[in-house]
Amino acid sequence: MIKVTILENTCKGCGLCVRACPKGVLAISTSHLNAKGYYPAEVVNGEACIACTSCAKTCPDVAIRIEK
Ligand code: SF4
Ligand code: SF4
Repeated sequence: MIKVTILENTCKGCGLCVRACPKGVLAISTSHLNAKGYYPAEVVNGEACIACTSCAKTCPDVAIRIEK
């Protein structure tokens, strides 16, 4: 099983990970702000993750962890 974890309060909501994901696993929250005042990325379709790590490599703030 693959687990995608977003360190919500490290995220600045830039959306790069959302665009990097080929499987539509991630989205920018439209409903809540993090501690820094940004809408963070969240996992919306975790079952689709193929652990390619594109999102984690793309994140400028190293806010995504992929575990198998
Ligand atoms: S590891 Fe790949 S498939 Fe999984 S969320 Fe990141 S970019 Fe998407
Ligand atoms: S790339 Fe990183 S900082 Fe940008 S939205 Fe995704 S998790 Fe947040």
